[in-house]
Amino acid sequence: IWLTTLGTLQNQILRYDYDTWLKTTALVSVANDLAVIGAPNVTTKQVIEDRFMSVLRRALGEVLGYQVNVRVIISSAPAAPSEPAPPPPAEPSQTAEVAEPSFASFNQPAPMLNQLPLGDPNRSSVLNPRYTFSSFIVGSSNRLAHAACMAVAEHPAQAYNPLFLYGGVGLGKTHLLQAIGNYALDRNPEVNVLYVSSEKFTNDLINAIRRQQTEEFRIRYRNIDILLIDDIQFIAGKEGTQEEFFHTFNTLHGAGKQIVLSSDRPPKAILTLEERLRSRFEWGLIVDVQNPDLETRTAILRAKGETLQVPVSSDVIDFLAQRIQSNIRELEGCLNRVIAYANLNRTPVTVEVASAALADLLDTSRRKRVTSDDIFREVSQHYGIDQRAIRGRGRSRNVVLPRQVVMYLLREETDASLVEIGELLGGRDHTTVMHGYNKINDELTSDARLRNDITSLRQRLYGENAR
Ligand code: ADP
Ligand code: MG
Repeated sequence: IWLTTLGTLQNQILRYDYDTWLKTTALVSVANDLAVIGAPNVTTKQVIEDRFMSVLRRALGEVLGYQVNVRVIISSAPAAPSEPAPPPPAEPSQTAEVAEPSFASFNQPAPMLNQLPLGDPNRSSVLNPRYTFSSFIVGSSNRLAHAACMAVAEHPAQAYNPLFLYGGVGLGKTHLLQAIGNYALDRNPEVNVLYVSSEKFTNDLINAIRRQQTEEFRIRYRNIDILLIDDIQFIAGKEGTQEEFFHTFNTLHGAGKQIVLSSDRPPKAILTLEERLRSRFEWGLIVDVQNPDLETRTAILRAKGETLQVPVSSDVIDFLAQRIQSNIRELEGCLNRVIAYANLNRTPVTVEVASAALADLLDTSRRKRVTSDDIFREVSQHYGIDQRAIRGRGRSRNVVLPRQVVMYLLREETDASLVEIGELLGGRDHTTVMHGYNKINDELTSDARLRNDITSLRQRLYGENAR
């Protein structure tokens, strides 16, 4: 129990604090809702009592599955565990990735009770302090979602209730959800915030049923000011869980408590979701998080480099931002990899190093480079507009749109600068190019047809390897 708790704690407090104060403690006993913790000396006892009681209580409660009071005593026993501390629990992001079933398995019936993993305390429902609004970069792809989350964090249950956030993997949903929790707690530590994945909700429920503690389960889940449920799509097909969640939802919503849900798809697209839940999910506000555009990718990389305190030159950032378009998690992963690679080889982080570090990923041989000719050809074909018209001066909507799409694709898919793109387009000014790029970028948010256009153009440009 203690090792798991320590593992959870490691993630929540500063490394230094952990090493100095908590690593040397031991769990002496747990009985009658009282956990006794042994500290090696008076100072440690005092520091823990002054600073770490609430985290301790929360983490222990998390691991035990019920709330306990915590008392610290001085225990002369050799408290320092000789075994290494357990690896810190997977961050929610990683957990979600591992747990994400393939689409094919999505609509299968829920597994039998005894096949489900037992309540796994490492599926921590504790907030990760890294996920805050201040570490979240806002761009056009996530502006709405960010604003909605801010509003909810500032005015729980008054702005949008429930708030339903959806979008693809690695686009920042978990980050935003937890940012709401961190923000609200920061403002008022008394607020009862609970962040859980829908899987944890399911597992808790199953455990409660098995231990005949459903009453405790209800008290725990219905006694909350802000409930943040991540990856709600996983309750699809699980009838028992949906039933229980339905009541949890009603109780909280009825009591004026805030509910925020995330999912990889909108409520309508969650198959085998009970209608009554679906309609409740649609009561409040539904917002999506989209793939980050070039600017946002660049800004995220820059911020991340600063956080890591590693000098990453802007040509490396541009290189990565151009090539890694899938999602933000991958973007971060690639930057980490490049930095690690440079460290290993004791070289500065250059474009050459980056391209070597990511050779297998970028796979330049397979993923052919797109040229401006390719883009002109495909766009011209797609819209049935002559290439000369695209380069020309015509202002009618049916040439302006393809022209702007060309600007957009040239900027996203090639290394051409704004000035170069302007030249390719019959000598246009770079501000015109910027305007065209932004126009498409903005419209992508609201215009599904345009999104389809761009997706199928990318597919044509990259053939099999389209991302
Ligand atoms: P999701 O839950 O949508 O799969 P996550 O919230 O786990 O995605 O995000 C994946 C990673 O990308 C996290 O490390 C997160 O901090 C980071 N991230 C996502 N969006 C942003 C953003 N706008 N600014 C900074 N970091 C971000
Ligand atoms: Mg997530």
